[in-house]
Amino acid sequence: MKVNERDTSKTCHKCGSENTSRPTQARFDCDTCGLESYNADLNGAKNILQRFLAYMVGDGAFVNKPITEAYMKKKGVNSEQVLGSSLLTS
Ligand SMILES: [Zn+2]
Repeated sequence: MKVNERDTSKTCHKCGSENTSRPTQARFDCDTCGLESYNADLNGAKNILQRFLAYMVGDGAFVNKPITEAYMKKKGVNSEQVLGSSLLTS
């Protein structure tokens, strides 16, 4: 399966905001939730994982937004269900 990587490097994996900055190539700051000096590559990787999971728990439609609290509420799942599912181990 292909995951759209668009904006994964500038989207905050924690809150989904794009109101972010990169003080250096390696560092990531979020002006919305206060995430600071986060590893930029890790942030991007987490966004890609979240998009993948959103795709799997969703209806198969293309997902461009990471899983957020609001998204999980809408889909009726919680983070334990998403992260503890066999999707990650199979
Ligand atoms: Zn944030």
